[in-house]
Amino acid sequence: MSPGPPARRPREPGAGSRRPGSLLEVAGLTAGYGAAEVLHGIDLAVAEGGATAVLGANGAGKTTLLRAITGAVRRGGRVTFAGTDVTSRRTDQIARLGIGHVPQGRGTLRTLSVRDNLLAGALLRRDRGAVRTDLDECLELFPRLGQRLDASGGNLSGGEQQMLAIARALMARPRLLLLDEPSLGLAPRVTAEVFAALAGLRRERGLTLLLVEQNARLALDLVDDAAVVEAGRLTLTGPAAEVAGDDAVRRAYLGV
Ligand code: ATP
Repeated sequence: MSPGPPARRPREPGAGSRRPGSLLEVAGLTAGYGAAEVLHGIDLAVAEGGATAVLGANGAGKTTLLRAITGAVRRGGRVTFAGTDVTSRRTDQIARLGIGHVPQGRGTLRTLSVRDNLLAGALLRRDRGAVRTDLDECLELFPRLGQRLDASGGNLSGGEQQMLAIARALMARPRLLLLDEPSLGLAPRVTAEVFAALAGLRRERGLTLLLVEQNARLALDLVDDAAVVEAGRLTLTGPAAEVAGDDAVRRAYLGV
């Protein structure tokens, strides 16, 4: 396959270069399913406390990028998290190091109660004493979950399930949260509630975010940086405001 055009980088350093303060660095990342290659060499860095949105059309490889970071799909290249090369680590080891993943479809444990779904998020933790405090914090963040603690996960609305998925990931105390289409299928009012919570997590806890989101406007308002994926390659990266001002992005993702 011939190499695609290099990513336009309004203010980014060259491909694969180290960025001081990066919590996550992805260099030359390839990934795929069986013999099919989906990602063809992705270079991306997310600063500690920063937030990056990944935009792209259906099938461009956004979900695969998140899965490749967590080790859930076959991958090559290098993924470095907090200075540790995690490329050959297992998914559970990567989660334990501090990468939380809120997958598309939310991964609700449908027969378990909301409380047990939340506690399941803390299963890898050894500091059991702090788990109760964190559960209370999750319920402060999403008060609706507090009202539904004994309900089965499967009986929640789509919005409540999305809140539960985020809260369950937080119960592992991640330093970096990967979010795959958190607004998918949600009413605008619920989407606003979810994004307000994400903004609060950034502001108050300094949580680092890598967000795949089809609602580009919402995503670009939340993050510092953005990257556009086309057919498994990054075609544009840079500060969110600059990406939002790019003519092709405006036409393809912002509808203006
Ligand atoms: P969407 O917005 O539709 O979720 P995406 O950008 O997240 O799209 P991916 O889900 O990463 O894209 O899919 C990228 C490519 O990988 C697509 O061609 C898809 O068909 C293929 N693919 C995804 N999951 C699998 C799988 N489990 N097995 C085989 N191919 C897959």
